[in-house]
Amino acid sequence: MKGKVSKADKNERNQLLLPFLAWYIMTSISKSLPYRDQFIIPKEGGKQLHYFCGNSLGLQPKKASRYIQRELDDWAKYAVKGHEMAEYPWVKYHEFLTEPMARVVGAKFHEVVVMNTLSVNLHLMMVSFYRPTAKRNKILIEYSSFPSDRYAVESQIRFHGYEPQECLVVLRPEEGSHYVSHEQIEKTIGQHGDQLALVLIGSVNYYTGQAYPIAKITRWAQSAGACVGFDLAHGAGNLLLNLHEDGPDFAVWCSYKYLNAGPGGLSGCFVHERHAANYDLPRFAGWWGHNKANRFKMPDRMEPMFGAEGWQLSNPPIFPMASLMASLELFDQAGIEALRERSVELTQNLYDALVALAPEQLNVLTPSEPGERGCQLSIQIKNADKSIYEKLVQKNIVADWREPDVIRVAPVPLYNTEADLEALVVGLAEILSDYGR
Ligand SMILES: *Cc1c(COP(=O)(O)O)cnc(C)c1O
Repeated sequence: MKGKVSKADKNERNQLLLPFLAWYIMTSISKSLPYRDQFIIPKEGGKQLHYFCGNSLGLQPKKASRYIQRELDDWAKYAVKGHEMAEYPWVKYHEFLTEPMARVVGAKFHEVVVMNTLSVNLHLMMVSFYRPTAKRNKILIEYSSFPSDRYAVESQIRFHGYEPQECLVVLRPEEGSHYVSHEQIEKTIGQHGDQLALVLIGSVNYYTGQAYPIAKITRWAQSAGACVGFDLAHGAGNLLLNLHEDGPDFAVWCSYKYLNAGPGGLSGCFVHERHAANYDLPRFAGWWGHNKANRFKMPDRMEPMFGAEGWQLSNPPIFPMASLMASLELFDQAGIEALRERSVELTQNLYDALVALAPEQLNVLTPSEPGERGCQLSIQIKNADKSIYEKLVQKNIVADWREPDVIRVAPVPLYNTEADLEALVVGLAEILSDYGR
C-alpha cells in the first residue's frame, strides 16, 4: 500500500494536481492582509511553519513580550504604587481591554468584561441564568459540545439536585450527517418548550466547524421562555458577531484561540444590557464586582457594579491582560469586518481546493455555506489513521488531529496566506496519493 509510487499512481497524482494548480494561479493574485509581519511565525529547520492551529492556540503578536515587559518594569519600579502609577494603572487594567473586546463581539461596552478563564465564567453565568424549577429545569446543548462545557452543565444540573439524564437535552444532527439544520434546532427547542431553563450553544462547534445562528436560536429560546447563552470560544475573533443586537442573555469565550492572547489566556464575558441593573439576579460575588467608587472603603454589604463588570470576582491579572492588549490592538487596526471578509475568501479557496482534490477520500464536515462556518474546516479522511497527520507534520504543516479520522485546519486571516493553503493542499494530495491505494 505504502512505499514506492508506481508510474500509474504518479499519473493519477498529476491528474489530481491539476484542479488546484488552476485554483492556485487564480487565487495567488489576491492580496493578503499586512498583519502577518506583526506575528512570530514558528520555524522548523530555519523554515516558517504553515500554521493552521489558530483555532486552538493563536500565534504570538510580536509586541506581546514588550507589553508584558512593561508591566514587569512598572512592578520593579513602583511595587504597590503601580496600582495607581503604572503607565496603565493596574487597578483599572481590565478597563483598557473592554472597548476593543466589545468591538470584537459586537456588544456595548458595559455589556463586556475580561475576567477569569472560560470554564469559570461559564459557571458564573449559569449561577445567574440557570435557575431550574421543578417544571422548568432542562438545558439544551449542542451535539458534540466541547467536553468542558458538558462537564460544567452536568455539574450545574447536579448542583441544583437534578439528574443530567433527565435534564440534559442534546441537539442531534441530521441522520447520517454532522450537520444540525436550523429546522432541527427550532423543532428541538419547541419540543422541550416550557421545560427548558437554558439553551447553551457553542458557535462555532469545535469539532465540525458549523457556526450556529445566534440571532435565530436566541429568538426561539426566548419565545420558549428559556434563558440563552453562547460559548464563543471558537467564534470570538473568527465570526462577525452582533451580541447586543442578537440579544442572548450571556456569552463567554476565551482569548487564546483566535484572539492570540497566549496559553491559558483570559476569558471574555458578555451580559446583555437588559440585565445590567438587575441586582436581584443571584450571582457569586467578589470584591472586584463591587461599586468601584467605594470598593476600598471595604464596606460589608456588596453593591454590584452596573453591567458585566458586576460579575467580576478578583482584581485583574496583569500579565495575561498585557498580552491580550497587544493582540486586541491588532484587531482594532484591522477591523473585524475586514478580517471576516478576508477570512471568508481564504476559507472558500481552501474549501474549493479540498473538495476538488479527492472526493472519494476526503469529506469536509464543515458546512459549505460561508454564513454557516468560520474559518475552520474539519476534514474527514476515509480509512485514515494518525500517520496522515504525522506526514503533514513532516511537511512543516501544523494541523490538528481528532480521533478517529478528522483533521481540523483553520486559515486565520491575520497571519495565514495563500502560500499556506497551497502547502496544505499539495501536501495532502501527495500524502493521499501514496495512501490507501
Ligand atoms: C477551548 C474551549 C474551552 C476551554 O476552556 P478553558 O476554561 O479556557 O480551559 C471550553 N469550551 C469550549 C467550547 C472551547 O472551545
